[in-house]
Amino acid sequence: MHELGIANSVLEAVREEIRRHPGAVPRKVGLAVGELAGVDPDCLQFNFQALTRGTEWEGLRLEILWRPRRHRCPACGSEFDIVDYNFACPSCGETRTECVSGDELELKYLEVEQP
Ligand SMILES: [Zn+2]
Repeated sequence: MHELGIANSVLEAVREEIRRHPGAVPRKVGLAVGELAGVDPDCLQFNFQALTRGTEWEGLRLEILWRPRRHRCPACGSEFDIVDYNFACPSCGETRTECVSGDELELKYLEVEQP
């Protein structure tokens, strides 16, 4: 399961971070998930909670920062988020625009509590 693997690597990264700050308790972790990353946010959230329930990580919350697909227009240079699979440039109407982001899957922040 894709989402389970991602939830696992998020926890791995948190573990790694905490190792460098002994005594700190992780409270909240933010993960940027691009629309094109092929991740189901509900499923990821579910897996994350399943992995942390009943463990020392029980109080840790996962925040998913949803990133929409973003295109750039080669004609006028504007960048815009894609809504309803409409890839045309909203500024000039150019239809052959390029995808510039939306496939990210990366840790954005970690909130910890110092004892
Ligand atoms: Zn344009």
